[in-house]
Amino acid sequence: MQSTESDTGRGRCLLVIDFDHTISEKNTDSWVLRSLLSEDTVEKILASRQTEKFPWQQVMRNGFQALYNKNCFKDQIVNAIEEIPLVNGFAKFIESVGKQSHCEIIIASDSNTVFIEALLRKHKLVPYIDHVFTNPANFDNQGHLRLFPHHSHSCKTCEPNICKQKILRQHMEERERNGGKYDQIFVIGDGGNDFCPCKLLTENDVIFPRKGYRLIKKLERLSKSGDEEPVLASIVPWEDGEDLLASFKQVAGLRLE
Ligand SMILES: [Mg+2]
Ligand SMILES: [Zn+2]
Repeated sequence: MQSTESDTGRGRCLLVIDFDHTISEKNTDSWVLRSLLSEDTVEKILASRQTEKFPWQQVMRNGFQALYNKNCFKDQIVNAIEEIPLVNGFAKFIESVGKQSHCEIIIASDSNTVFIEALLRKHKLVPYIDHVFTNPANFDNQGHLRLFPHHSHSCKTCEPNICKQKILRQHMEERERNGGKYDQIFVIGDGGNDFCPCKLLTENDVIFPRKGYRLIKKLERLSKSGDEEPVLASIVPWEDGEDLLASFKQVAGLRLE
């Protein structure tokens, strides 16, 4: 596709990027718990997802309570987050694409505002991100990390606190209300919950699933089974930020630095 400058001054192509295992090499939630709590405590907290059938946010609220009980407050938590390595080459990918005036980058993640903002700040990526859609979190007066749902939704397949399809749909609708339309949408992610927004994409759009993770397996199963509606977008797998950037330049028809 030939890309041209935006008629509205904003992006004509939209990148929807997941955070954990896509930008961040690790799962931010379990990294923080494992960095600051004993192995036994962490295993017990994480196991409650199966044993108690807790939704992920409940698991994490219990994790944050355990951090508070152990007197792990803001500085320690933020320091732990800042130690997480980014996926190789991903900072360069975001910088290169984010510098293009016609590309808009949003993050859609089931992590939280505190973790994502800390890691983006540390790697100086904040200026390239147009919006972060994630669960709000903050430290209260006692230094306790509080976590809230991103929104409510009626999707049957997503966690109760976040559906990335709803995020993308609302974002597209807002864009249309402002008199614009994206020429091309790219969904970049690794996880099972990155599949839901892919169902909104058209033949002109592209899904970039990370090799070896759940999203690509889901897409492969889907293409074989024929039971569910197939996704219409093209699928371009990637391993790290370097090969992602090379593929992105090709499919988006961009000449980036
Ligand atoms: Mg992920
Ligand atoms: Zn959903």
